Amino acid sequence: MTHPTDSNVSLFERAKQVIPGGVNSPVRAFAAVGGTPRFVEHALGAYFWDTNGQQFTDYIGSWGPMILGHGHPEVIAEVQKAVLEGFSYGAPTEREVQLAEAILRIMPSMDMVRLVSSGTEAGMSALRLARGFTGRNKIIKFNGCYHGHADSLLVKAGSGLATFGASSSAGVPADVVKDTIVLEYNDIGQLEEAFAKLGGEIACVIMEPIAGNMNFVRASVDFTRRIRELTREHGALMIYDEVMTGFRVALGSAQSLYARQIAGFQPDITVMGKVIGGGMPMAAFGARREIMEKLSPLGPVYQAGTLSGNPIATACGLKTLELISQPGFHDALHARTGRLMAGLKQEADAAGLPFSVDHQGGLFGFFFLPELPTSYPQVMKTDGKVFNKFFHGMLDRGHYFAPALYEAGFVSSAHTDADVDKTVEAAREVFRTL
Ligand SMILES: *Cc1c(COP(=O)(O)O)cnc(C)c1O
Repeated sequence: MTHPTDSNVSLFERAKQVIPGGVNSPVRAFAAVGGTPRFVEHALGAYFWDTNGQQFTDYIGSWGPMILGHGHPEVIAEVQKAVLEGFSYGAPTEREVQLAEAILRIMPSMDMVRLVSSGTEAGMSALRLARGFTGRNKIIKFNGCYHGHADSLLVKAGSGLATFGASSSAGVPADVVKDTIVLEYNDIGQLEEAFAKLGGEIACVIMEPIAGNMNFVRASVDFTRRIRELTREHGALMIYDEVMTGFRVALGSAQSLYARQIAGFQPDITVMGKVIGGGMPMAAFGARREIMEKLSPLGPVYQAGTLSGNPIATACGLKTLELISQPGFHDALHARTGRLMAGLKQEADAAGLPFSVDHQGGLFGFFFLPELPTSYPQVMKTDGKVFNKFFHGMLDRGHYFAPALYEAGFVSSAHTDADVDKTVEAAREVFRTL
């Protein structure tokens, strides 16, 4: 709760003088839910503390990276060791090789991987690679999926096939998005129509396998299979953006889950981020050899980065990857996350509220809707006022969920059953007020 001596309020005022909106990434500003963002003072395990000293159970975990919780002692030890060896060299290191080998061991769809510094950079590079490999320009993305803020991906839905795409951000020229086709997620009919009309011009289809940027919406198995079939048939590439789902929904990421249901399933290019850096700025993209060999310095597709494969980030990512590779890690995470979702569902039902939940590994979503949505327009049918009241009720009680109804939630291995149960108890109180 905010009051005159609230240091979050005074910090936010100061921040707004010198940083646009007071934040360095828009969702942190609480624009969707109203109120004052919490300025974090420190974090440990499943919790963080704001500058007022209030403790929160953290269900965003830096929007995904903190799968081990905050300040895991073994990760800290690796990072401290790396810091003493130097911050950045601009020359290759053994740890980059080790990390690439570790990623490829876990992800059989990739023969080679390149490390970059953000998911945006990885997604943008993957698109360029797909266009360079196929020699085509058009790309298909889905309404509600987010792949970072590269120009050609900031496109409004509803532009369809007939018209040119309209950019969703000022500063993006119409020319830059004219080759971006936006379709509804899980809509096989639209997909087939797009390929029937433009198949020979499409470089790639980029998708989130489980869309965490519209809260939590799974791609259906049929939809995923049809994308794989149509891209193959027409010589286009399938890009799986696993920045959020990668190493989080399962060790082998979402593609390992879909491969259980679609025989031989693999995407062509995979984009990774978030968990891969364990909280340090790192991301990656990878594919089979013939695609990756198109990349500079081997091939004609240019891509580079001063801080790519940063020694401290690779130390953090490598240790994180090792710890989450322990047998049973994701099963335990899935069970803990499931306990939270089942608890929330039970209490919402008891309060007579429409409510639906889904989760996979340490990623979850809940909706104030009677049934799980399958597309962005369905997600946006959620009553924003009810969500915002829930959000603030939980925040006041020390439980920090994502401050927007279209964002996913995250559980770490540091969360205990007791943490989850306390959150469910708080939710029981809040649901009664809605
Ligand atoms: C977060 C996210 C990105 C962008 O990553 P940044 O590191 O924020 O640039 C891209 N794709 C997906 C699916 C994401 O969740």
